[in-house]
Amino acid sequence: MLTSAELINLVLSYDKDANTDLIKKAYVFAMEAHGSQKRASGFPYFTHPVEVSKILAEMRMDVPTVVTGLLHDVLEDTNTSYEEIVEIFGAEIAFLVDGVTKLSKINFASTTSRRAENFKKFLVAMAQDIRVLVVKLVDRLHNIRTLHYIDSVDKQKRIAAETLDIYAPLAERIGMRRIKNEIEDIAFYNLHPEEYQTIAVKLEEIKKRDADFIPNTMRELEQLFKDSPIPARISGREKEIYSIWRKMQKRNVSLNQIYDIMAFRVIVDTVEQCYESLGLIHTNFRIMPGRFKDYISIPKLNNYRSLHTTVVGPFNQPIEIQIRTEEMHRIAEDGVAAHWLYKSDNVSTDVNDSKNFGWLKGLLTTVKNSDNPEEVLANSKLEMFDDEVFCFTETGDLKTLPKGATAIDFAYSIHTDVGDHCIGVQINTKMVPLWTPLRNGDRIKVLTSPYQHPDSSWINFATTGKARACVKKYIHTQEKSEFLTLGRELAKYAFKTAALAFDEDAIQYKKFRCSSLQSFYQNFGRGLISFVSFQKTLVDEFILPAIAGDAEICMIDFIPGIAVHLAECCHPIIGDKIVGVIQKDKGLVVHSLLCPHLSEHTDRVLLKMTWNQDNDQSGSFTTVIRILTTNDKDSFALITNIISSNGASITNLRIEERSMLFFTLLIEIKVTDTFHLGEILAALRACSHVKSVHRD
Ligand code: MN
Repeated sequence: MLTSAELINLVLSYDKDANTDLIKKAYVFAMEAHGSQKRASGFPYFTHPVEVSKILAEMRMDVPTVVTGLLHDVLEDTNTSYEEIVEIFGAEIAFLVDGVTKLSKINFASTTSRRAENFKKFLVAMAQDIRVLVVKLVDRLHNIRTLHYIDSVDKQKRIAAETLDIYAPLAERIGMRRIKNEIEDIAFYNLHPEEYQTIAVKLEEIKKRDADFIPNTMRELEQLFKDSPIPARISGREKEIYSIWRKMQKRNVSLNQIYDIMAFRVIVDTVEQCYESLGLIHTNFRIMPGRFKDYISIPKLNNYRSLHTTVVGPFNQPIEIQIRTEEMHRIAEDGVAAHWLYKSDNVSTDVNDSKNFGWLKGLLTTVKNSDNPEEVLANSKLEMFDDEVFCFTETGDLKTLPKGATAIDFAYSIHTDVGDHCIGVQINTKMVPLWTPLRNGDRIKVLTSPYQHPDSSWINFATTGKARACVKKYIHTQEKSEFLTLGRELAKYAFKTAALAFDEDAIQYKKFRCSSLQSFYQNFGRGLISFVSFQKTLVDEFILPAIAGDAEICMIDFIPGIAVHLAECCHPIIGDKIVGVIQKDKGLVVHSLLCPHLSEHTDRVLLKMTWNQDNDQSGSFTTVIRILTTNDKDSFALITNIISSNGASITNLRIEERSMLFFTLLIEIKVTDTFHLGEILAALRACSHVKSVHRD
């Protein structure tokens, strides 16, 4: 057990002006108050508050919080009165101790009507000063660390269940991940010892089998950064057993490979270096599409900030990498508790701050105003969970969706027809793209049109089983009719290039071993029948024009991604001049007329195509821009900021070459059309750090 002097030294190590007398006084006071009381472990009771205050000091909390750690059980378990604490330690500490005591008295296992009432008291106590909750969570951490000393298995399980149910989600909500992970793992071990053991054994097996993987990968990453101008610290992190188990449950996957259990971390000094590190990693390793997440631009609700990416690592295994600064790291580990160290704007501890604690006030208001406390309790408890998101329909009905669900998932959760005909979504009265992730408390209005149909691109951001199934089903039925329509368009085109009027009866489909005109169209659309050989059946000696006069195929008739695809080499966007190339089994691939890869298709017919200019495909075109910029520390941040403030999202980023003075950045962005792209290019050119910029 820590002595009073040791505790004081610990606090002095981060706060040289700390009021040491106050700590000494509290230490002695708590020791005398608890007297000869014993813990279930047989140790003196006093060891518990000392341990709690030690953990708080290790988290570098302020003196009142450390003192509250020492005193947190004297009101409940000894003869000490509230007035006595006010007199000796002042109103602030008395308030905190009283708050923790109120939380401790709450028994979530009581009868149903009492339980909701208790939950309300719990929220009221915690909603006044977030330090009350910090102390309570540390108290729970130490209690659950010593859970095995408790004789009654029932009591052990009750405490473990309550920890998973209430405390772990609360810890997550205020960003105290380190504590959350530890209390979850211990609670999980107590509730499901067999599952815990199975995963633990499997983890050991994998680690033994791939013993060299972690140190070798770390060495490669360290070397990569050593050869770059970015000062970085690399570490490897093993995921927690409970979080692995949750992932296995949720995605229904088994635990097989080392990368399931490891994440690598790059810690740098500045935000700019975070993006530079990302560029460096993406330049040297192949990225896994769809796994890049920028929590620096858009922090999580609990202030978590980091860049996440998954790449194929040096040993051809996918590796997950998190990139962050030292401050982001502390906040990621300790959440609000990191505030007292950094006094940072990035973490707020003011419970009246609606951005950070709106959820708490909202929860409280709902609980207070409700006639049916039991139902509210069920909903509010869930609301604290990390893996669910709660939204409302425009008429105020509550919808529960898995976390990460997007606006399109919401539309499908109302009704299949609503999803299928969804043309747009308003969240809190603002129009948002269909891929917008939902947040707790969003009020959502879905706009529909009988003329709208699912878009194959929806599959990229539909996350719920229902939405994905509906979109896939539609794509499947649509495929047939899309290929049929395309085949018919191609036939018309062929007639026109031969200067003939379109005449379906003249199509000799039997020559192509098709039983009907319909099946001929489908095969023609799929590229299974050569365009030239079909033309030859129309005219004997046919001389092919490069691009035939006014014949053209309009994009309006097609859903990109089914029978008609946008080429990934040149990423054509609305406004570009475009041509189509028929590709076997795929249909028509649309290239920009300027695409350098077109020359590879000299044996193919280039079909002239036009866009449907009225079709609103807002933000759905991917394109790559190449930027030559000065090698300054703020270039990265400036450029990414210009792009996002012009309404485009960044989907990938890579550094191509780097010298002392300049470097070339390749940024993949999503834009609406050529006009939108032009605006972004112009804004970038106006930036003094940018030497040149153009579409790649
Ligand atoms: Mn306690």
